[in-house]
Amino acid sequence: LVELHAIHKSFGELEVLKGIDLSIDEGQVIALIGKSGSGKSTLLRTINGLEVIDDGVIIVDGKKISDRDADLLGLRLQVGMVFQQFNLFPHYTALENVMLSPQVVKKQSKAEAKQIAEEMLAKVGLADKMMHYPDQLSGGQQQRVAIARALAMKPKVLLCDEVTSALDPELVNEVLAVVRQLAEEGMTLVMVTHEMRFAREVCDKLVFMHQGRIHETGDPEEVFSNPKTPELSSFVGGLA
Ligand code: ATP
Ligand code: MG
Repeated sequence: LVELHAIHKSFGELEVLKGIDLSIDEGQVIALIGKSGSGKSTLLRTINGLEVIDDGVIIVDGKKISDRDADLLGLRLQVGMVFQQFNLFPHYTALENVMLSPQVVKKQSKAEAKQIAEEMLAKVGLADKMMHYPDQLSGGQQQRVAIARALAMKPKVLLCDEVTSALDPELVNEVLAVVRQLAEEGMTLVMVTHEMRFAREVCDKLVFMHQGRIHETGDPEEVFSNPKTPELSSFVGGLA
């Protein structure tokens, strides 16, 4: 579904992605792990077209993405993203937050956007909170609104960047449950996460990044129980 070939990205002198090759198959759930600064967020942002790459090729659905504006917009339409901070509009209700992009970007009618938004909010378990404003919702509920907002755009791939890291521990599970449900429904997902148990249970593939490269990858269970590099050993050890 998505192929990355030899992706390079620098910020000034700092080379953050040093040649990333990754293929994301339809329905696959990929966990992206690695130390702070290893390039995980930057990689997700390139998949979503939020970062212009210096070198390499991105292919989505067999179509090569160049850095022309039209292509990047098309890429963003196909690839949804959810962030650590929910970034909801505070003066809009949950429903309005989810309705906004489909109307503005996809030019859907208000009625159509409303129908899809209601469906997506129900899916994340918030059918009874649609008229609430973000400050009337818990962090976990806000993050579920953010997920519904991404889903309303009907992306082919959903990227999640530490979507539970800003949450109080007791709210983490309700958000992970939604992600797990999406995975079970066959959504293609790439998630940066520190939830190793979740990665083991739900993800099909683990990608360990180290210093801007994919250092180790494979079946999560196998990679965790039998790390082949000292870097992954120490990363996994540090979590225990
Ligand atoms: P974390 O686990 O802390 O989120 P990460 O693996 O997501 O880390 P990135 O956010 O991809 O790491 O950052 C990789 C490196 O790129 C870091 O050294 C960061 O300071 C640098 N970096 C990221 N974005 C920019 C930017 N817009 N301008 C300059 N440097 C940047
Ligand atoms: Mg990050």
